[in-house]
Amino acid sequence: MNSERSRELFEKSKACIPGGVNSPVRAFGSVNRAPLFIERAAGSKIYDVDGNEYIDYVNSWGPCILGHGDKRVIDAVKRACDNGLTYGAPTEKEYILAKLISELIPSMEQTRLVSSGTEAVMSAIRVARGYTKRDMIIKFRGCYHGHSDGLLVKAGSGALTHSVPDSSGVPYDYTKNTLIAEYNNEESVKELFHQYGEKIAAIIVEPVAANMGVVLPKDGFLQFLRDITRKYDSLLIFDEVITGFRLGLGGAQGYYGITPDLTTLGKIIGGGMPVGAYGGKKEIMEMVAPVGSVYQAGTLSGNPIATAAGIETLTILKNTPDLYRQMEKQAEKIVYAVKERFENQVCINHIGSLICIFFTKEKVVDFDSAMASDTKRYADYFGYLLENGIYQAPSQYEAMFLSHAHTDEDIHKTCAVIKNYR
Ligand code: PMP
Repeated sequence: MNSERSRELFEKSKACIPGGVNSPVRAFGSVNRAPLFIERAAGSKIYDVDGNEYIDYVNSWGPCILGHGDKRVIDAVKRACDNGLTYGAPTEKEYILAKLISELIPSMEQTRLVSSGTEAVMSAIRVARGYTKRDMIIKFRGCYHGHSDGLLVKAGSGALTHSVPDSSGVPYDYTKNTLIAEYNNEESVKELFHQYGEKIAAIIVEPVAANMGVVLPKDGFLQFLRDITRKYDSLLIFDEVITGFRLGLGGAQGYYGITPDLTTLGKIIGGGMPVGAYGGKKEIMEMVAPVGSVYQAGTLSGNPIATAAGIETLTILKNTPDLYRQMEKQAEKIVYAVKERFENQVCINHIGSLICIFFTKEKVVDFDSAMASDTKRYADYFGYLLENGIYQAPSQYEAMFLSHAHTDEDIHKTCAVIKNYR
């Protein structure tokens, strides 16, 4: 595999972009390789600047559920572009997208559009605090909710109370109200409520954790979160930036039948354009300015291009029978191939079109078991797949995203490559 031009661009970029990339994981740091610079993508394939072709299982980290450059989405974007790029004024499309979201995810009676998942989560938390008039929140170790100051915390081992920031540049004061619990561990949540119950505005959770690899909620865990937040008059926020429209039209909340108070979305609802959204019960969302006292704004929020791509994508998802089932079937074939190749040498977690292979013999059910994975073996496996035309996340702790554009041939080839791993 020739990567000369990618390497050259990486070296040049490093001079004027920190680390040569605009988001850290793109640098391929944890797999010890130079990153690929991408020239274009179409359907299930992505092409680098050296002319190499890969079957893409990153799909821009989730948004491209229809694959790359779906003609219907591109046409909707082109039509929108013809009318100007942004107005900073309300449009009918924003209404249509918000309505579509609330139709498919009924707990989102009202929705605010923003420009990224980070913004969506940051704003949802502000609303939860404004509504409950409380300051503390609970997040789970290993769950990622974007890079806003108060959420950039995972806490050191065993620390179940006040947490230290994960990044330099974040003052301790900004994170002192972020309490850390253990995903899939009810006791850790109960302890925090026992100690700080009356001060806790909300629990925020990825209903299926997909940023420590993929970790599924244990039976009853999400219901437990629903019950304990009700008991203490706190809010439950589902961060569905990954799971929204990925696990099905109703997101994880539809899949598991648990209704949160607030939901955050991103990725798929922009069909590949920068977008995020937060929403929930009308009574709570009416805290947001200009109706209420929680301030949140954005020059490009709800911009017509992203909104057009989002409406088209959600409409296609809604109108394509069996789309989710088909993606799941393809995913199952890959899971089967991995099991055949590795038997019980690895743990493979999957749900719908999300897959993660952990290089550990133990079951991965929480942050600690995820951390037990052998990341060196993952790096080797990643390199092997890449050399053989398969592009998956350059990090152990990310999901493999299937799209509806993956063909039987793609899956067949992927399975064959996996089975031949030395
Ligand atoms: N929440 C979750 C669950 C995410 O996975 C991500 C990004 N991967 C975010 C929030 C932040 O979204 P963005 O990168 O669009 O800011």
